[in-house]
Amino acid sequence: MNAAHARSNIGAIDAAHHMHPFSDMKKLNADGTRIIQRAEGVHIFDNHGKKYLDGFAGLWCVNVGYGRKEITDAVMRQMNELPYYNTFFGTTTEPATLLAEKIISHAGPRFSHVFFTGSGSEANDTWFRMARVYWKTLGHPEKKVIISRKNGYHGSTVAGASLGGMKWMHEQGDLPIPGVVHIGQPYWYVEGGDLSPEEFGLRAAGELEEKILELGADKVAAFVAEPIQGAGGVIIPPSTYWPEIARICKKYDILLVNDEVICGFGRLGTWFGHQYYGLEPDLCPIAKGLSSGYLPIGGVMVSKRVADVLINEAGDFNHGFTYSGHPVCAAAALENLRIIEDEKLVERVRDDTGPYFAKAWKSLEDHEVVGQAESVGLMGGLQLAADKTTRRRYAKPEDAGVVVRNHCLKNGLVLRATNDRMLASPPLIITRAEIDELVTTLRGGLDHLRDTMP
Ligand code: PLP
Repeated sequence: MNAAHARSNIGAIDAAHHMHPFSDMKKLNADGTRIIQRAEGVHIFDNHGKKYLDGFAGLWCVNVGYGRKEITDAVMRQMNELPYYNTFFGTTTEPATLLAEKIISHAGPRFSHVFFTGSGSEANDTWFRMARVYWKTLGHPEKKVIISRKNGYHGSTVAGASLGGMKWMHEQGDLPIPGVVHIGQPYWYVEGGDLSPEEFGLRAAGELEEKILELGADKVAAFVAEPIQGAGGVIIPPSTYWPEIARICKKYDILLVNDEVICGFGRLGTWFGHQYYGLEPDLCPIAKGLSSGYLPIGGVMVSKRVADVLINEAGDFNHGFTYSGHPVCAAAALENLRIIEDEKLVERVRDDTGPYFAKAWKSLEDHEVVGQAESVGLMGGLQLAADKTTRRRYAKPEDAGVVVRNHCLKNGLVLRATNDRMLASPPLIITRAEIDELVTTLRGGLDHLRDTMP
């Protein structure tokens, strides 16, 4: 098949040979897949030339926007100089080492080291083992249970999917693995009942203490959570939640792990999500915005407390990936972080576009089908409701989200739907005018839901 013919035939070839992540393949093959051809700034273009505002930054990751020639150039330079070398067996490469230094410079004095991975899932597998090695080295081999949250998301590897709290993922592959248990999520709108958000935040955090007491603190290694639950629906916790979680972790000497794969690198108007909430985590998996998705790279930020034990007492850490600290991916990430610094994107989200987005997003709460519209920085979650006065949900929540999402897509806006929540996470370079466009198009989708789904 020649190239031109193959190009016009991509849909059929895709159906025949390509299995997609998180997809109903039968339906996808019947409906046909969308083919994205190119991108620039905050926009993507499909193979018919249709332009979309990418309100989701790819998959929560293209923080500096598309088409950054600086990153392409840095990648090409590194490709030509050293396309690959590993960081095993007493070796490093310049980009990997400089990237670790750069990340730590933004993580704050609590952290000292970075362990590199190829993805966010691998980062979660990595800290999982680190936490257990940490306690074992300190003479507590029984302190190994990890407490996580229902509806949390930490990746698709066996450990990542176990840590995640998605039941429909656990059902495939007999997960979670032993030693991982889940508590509830701080999702006030649906689970808060008659409690105020603040009361509910304390109750949701209190589940951690109950679980620790049930298991015994001497059995629990760590608690892991995203600062704001992303894939679960941009669940923004009530203000009382995180301070109480922090108190409990300290009281029972449980490692606090904040999964920064989405919240890291400026999304909340701070370099990291734990900084927004004033938390002091011991380990943080990172990925996505680290390279703005230009090349795959992730890692774990390791606090001095844990690094000191792992480095000075534990001996070899028998763990690593062929692509840990891949020099080309590291070069892309370094250039990406340089852009975030030089263009002051974190400050821009904190002081300008974040507050502007918050106001525009919140304005959607006047719509008949919107129960709540909350955001932090450039991360928004909007709750659809069949009856906003009683917080009654649609009979099939997932259908409501799909109706809005598809209508937006038809009108040139990419957003994600998780059940009856609409999620936004645009590139950090989005302008005020583009935020207006995003919110106006979403409002059209909400009108469509009101008019088509009683
Ligand atoms: N952790 C969080 C919070 C995520 O949102 C994701 C991906 O969406 C992951 C981990 C997994 O990252 P990856 O898909 O790079 O393996």
